Amino acid sequence: MAASTTLPSTATPIAILPSQADSSILLSNVRYYSATNYTRIVIDLSKVPDYKVTVEGGYIVVNLRSTRVSKEETYKIRDGLVKDVEVLSGDDHSKVRIGVEGIPLYRDFTLEQPPRVVIDVLRRGQPSIPSVVSPPSVSGEQKPLVQGAMPQKEETQVRGKGRFLVVLDPGHGGEDAGAIGAMGTKEKDVTLSVSFLVRDELVKRGYRVALTRDRDITIPLEERARIANRLKADAFISIHCNAAFSPSASGSEVYYMALPTDSSAMAVALRENMELGLDKEEVKKRTDVLVRILEDMMKNAKINDSAKLAESIYGAMRGRLEIPVRRIAQAPFFVLRGAMMPAVLIEVAFISNPREERLLRDASWQRKVATLIADGINRYLSSIR
Ligand SMILES: [Zn+2]
Repeated sequence: MAASTTLPSTATPIAILPSQADSSILLSNVRYYSATNYTRIVIDLSKVPDYKVTVEGGYIVVNLRSTRVSKEETYKIRDGLVKDVEVLSGDDHSKVRIGVEGIPLYRDFTLEQPPRVVIDVLRRGQPSIPSVVSPPSVSGEQKPLVQGAMPQKEETQVRGKGRFLVVLDPGHGGEDAGAIGAMGTKEKDVTLSVSFLVRDELVKRGYRVALTRDRDITIPLEERARIANRLKADAFISIHCNAAFSPSASGSEVYYMALPTDSSAMAVALRENMELGLDKEEVKKRTDVLVRILEDMMKNAKINDSAKLAESIYGAMRGRLEIPVRRIAQAPFFVLRGAMMPAVLIEVAFISNPREERLLRDASWQRKVATLIADGINRYLSSIR
């Protein structure tokens, strides 16, 4: 589901899910993760319940309807943003009360498999929400999405290329430098420069663009595709530099992720299901669940569309660079997992190859590559209606 966010001034319910009239939902665990710009609190449940989030004083309170807790508990976090998290039990509901340093600013969303409610407590003045840069002809000016609010698809009647949003993901960042060349060139710096240039080129061609990061910060891999999902992007492009032990390894590559073949896995699962000796109704139910899971996987993976996007970018780059544009390949890149739109990862060149490291540092070469990448994205998006 779409995530939503509120500012502290609006301490009103912000997310109500359809009633499930189920009093047996179990809150089994609370986990947290401290990132640079936010602290993520993950509430593990047997099922996503109706819930609402309110701000009460210095607390963000998550009220979970029809939910019981396995154990009341207080978790000390003290990471400079969140003090502690209390899990409290009520009559027919549970509460998770998050004590925050300073003014509570948050976003919330739910995830399935396993079911969980996620609260990101945001660091003030450093929203981790990317701005969308629009071409002037579309929106009149470059306006960022409402800071501190979860990005929604813009309501404006956008026609032409401006209806497409491309999310660019500059690889690595912050504590993660990525690969480092012999001259000391850091992958995280090259990917950011190239991403800025691809953004410029796409905006010039009329597209809206957002970056997962626009400065030197750490972003978890799993967060990157999620940003694109929340923005309902039409394409997700993760930009990297390759590295190898051999300094002679060279060239560009374009990757997309294909999940392991699902059809045989499903066939096995269905067969197993049929052999359980369950009654017809139960078999049907289980089959439906399996089909739904498979459909979700097929839908989310966008394998064919990702392959087409990869082909377009590869086709645009091939033969137009001083280095070999080697191939399109499939691999299980964690950063592409969960992307709900066509998604590719580009290894621009080998930072471990001295000649290519020099090219990667060269602003005019970066511009050249960025232009070709933008051409490829343009070619792909122009082909879909
Ligand atoms: Zn990389």
